[in-house]
Amino acid sequence: MKYASVYRATLEKWGEDAQCDQAVEECAELIAALKHYRRKKIDKQAVIDELADVTLMIGQLTWMFGANEVEQAVQDKLKKLDILLKSEAGL
Ligand SMILES: [Mg+2]
Repeated sequence: MKYASVYRATLEKWGEDAQCDQAVEECAELIAALKHYRRKKIDKQAVIDELADVTLMIGQLTWMFGANEVEQAVQDKLKKLDILLKSEAGL
């Protein structure tokens, strides 16, 4: 898994509870950034920076909860999305 050594190190240093809290905080910052971007209060780079924060936190949570299990859930959801897209396209 990409960045696995960093994820392991952060979890060893700060622990699971702190990283869960940090993930929530970073998601909230992304939410605020997207709202501010839509109102033209911040630029694209500020959104990209928040996306990077959330991407890293998702990586840590995925490492924490199980990369294989998350990948399986992603595949299941992609199948459902494919069915939805085909049904909405009238196929
Ligand atoms: Mg952030």
